[in-house]
Amino acid sequence: MKAVVIHETGGPEKLIYEDIETPTAGAGEVLINLKTVGLNHFDLDVRGDVSGYLNLKMPHILGVEGAGVIAEIGPGVQGFKVGDRVMPQLTTSSGRCNRQICNCALGMDNICLDFAKLGITHWGTYAEYVKVTAPNIIRIPDAVTDLDAAATQVAMATAWELVVTKGKVSQGEDVLVNAAGSGVGSAAVQIAHLAGARVIASAGSDGKLDRARQLGAADGINYNKHSIVDEVMKLTGGRGVDVVIEMVGGDLLKQSLSALAINGRLSTCGAHAGEVVDIDMIEFFRKQLTMTSTHFAPVSTNQRVLKLVGEGKLRPVVEKIFPLKEMAAAHELLASRNFFGKVILEV
Ligand SMILES: [Zn+2]
Repeated sequence: MKAVVIHETGGPEKLIYEDIETPTAGAGEVLINLKTVGLNHFDLDVRGDVSGYLNLKMPHILGVEGAGVIAEIGPGVQGFKVGDRVMPQLTTSSGRCNRQICNCALGMDNICLDFAKLGITHWGTYAEYVKVTAPNIIRIPDAVTDLDAAATQVAMATAWELVVTKGKVSQGEDVLVNAAGSGVGSAAVQIAHLAGARVIASAGSDGKLDRARQLGAADGINYNKHSIVDEVMKLTGGRGVDVVIEMVGGDLLKQSLSALAINGRLSTCGAHAGEVVDIDMIEFFRKQLTMTSTHFAPVSTNQRVLKLVGEGKLRPVVEKIFPLKEMAAAHELLASRNFFGKVILEV
């Protein structure tokens, strides 16, 4: 099969479009023929092994997101047939945890005790074919295109967990969504708006804020020009927001806590701008704040957001489409942060 392969970690020039042996579906596995591939900023971290602990087995195929059809079914897989439109779940689970305690049974397969990750622990989606085990197959509704499906999992499903499951955003609340131009951010703006909240978007450019307004944000804050705390206080009459949807980390996380109203909640899923943050715990408990988080989303949430995408209630935002062989150029665009929403590749 054709795939974008790395033989060592490093810059975008390490992404090589070449032929590599096609995997076959063993017992309990299916082989998916991918049509589209979704890119994510952490693909860049994996490519460069930024944290230095991944121990990727070379050659390796990156990629956590994609959509396609089942090409081959191994023995023991039930409920699916060749030709079914599916996508792989990126946080792979065993479906039973192999322990007395089982997060999978509680619907939290994204934090399975046998957790593994597509594109890191095994070959990912930068390829014509990807192999996954049966608990990690997500069915794509007919009404959802391959393009939208590849743009849905990380952005929409994670945002749903942040806004609805963990953030518990309700009608009439004021919600600040940081990095509103990112995949997760642009999805969180839509979901918080759908939940009946008044959305204040924050982003690093006025152009991104205009796009966020088109998705349902009532107001916008350019954090390269203005203080988030000052602007939130102006927009909320000095009260602060009820919820912050956060995925940036660093100083923006600290500012976000200060922008919260009394009893406010901060819901987070990322920390590219600073993984270690010192927090004023006096302010934290005097305001009775809550911090919650999610690590991607379970299969059930993916199915829920795909249904809403199919109904037109949520719209994945696709900025640019590249052919698979132009992966290096796609990675350069991703690194520039000069885009809004998702970057997708066609296989
Ligand atoms: Zn499990």
